[in-house]
Amino acid sequence: MKQNGTSLNSRRANGHGFDDTPTATLDLSNEITLDGIGSLTIDEIGDEHISTSYDTPLRDDAFYLSDEQKMQKIEHHFREIMLTLGLDLADDSLRGTPKRVAKMYVQEIFSGLNPANMPKVALFDNRYRYNEMLVEKNITFYSNCEHHFVPIIGKAHVAYIANGKVIGLSKINRIVQYFAKRPQVQERLTVQIGNALKELLGTDDVAVVIDAVHMCVTSRGIQDQSSSTVTSYYGGAFKSDNKRKEFQQYLTT
Ligand SMILES: [Zn+2]
Repeated sequence: MKQNGTSLNSRRANGHGFDDTPTATLDLSNEITLDGIGSLTIDEIGDEHISTSYDTPLRDDAFYLSDEQKMQKIEHHFREIMLTLGLDLADDSLRGTPKRVAKMYVQEIFSGLNPANMPKVALFDNRYRYNEMLVEKNITFYSNCEHHFVPIIGKAHVAYIANGKVIGLSKINRIVQYFAKRPQVQERLTVQIGNALKELLGTDDVAVVIDAVHMCVTSRGIQDQSSSTVTSYYGGAFKSDNKRKEFQQYLTT
């Protein structure tokens, strides 16, 4: 992965202990400036998967339409795409596809665009005064690349050190799934999960590592079948080498 014109920190994942396939690693914990991105053209961005913002770029009128209205519109337009490609929508197998795609977009794979679908999270008092690191690893997620609308499949590993509150483990999983269900770039997904947990848990001591495969890289374009991309987000105590290493240790065992 190349970062044309951005100041994202890039380093190889050697010594991370993941696997030995070629890997690009981005450390997103440092201050990031996105200067210069605004001047890139669509062709310059091309397949480089540069995100321009850590908020999902949404229009002001994003939720004026109901889900039902969105599905009708998408069904119509997807039918046009299929017709343009020359497909015969009178065929029994294809006839229902526009409706299926519309429903899948709105109700499933892009449902995380709507803040109304943010999981309700109950916090518990940290009764056991457990103030060590808590790690939830290997959270499988399916997302979609916002540049190609094809799948990103990966594992998220999340850690935090409880302040006064703890969160149910299944809720960490749900938060990952919520942000994955958007057109995404991996860097943004990583930061959005980290920031949401920081806010919910009332602590900066949050870490997120994501290791993912991008179908737009493995199945098309350069067709690199063995590469994965690792992104990380380290807040608070995880900025120290000790805590960071401890967390990375958990990921390799
Ligand atoms: Zn892509």
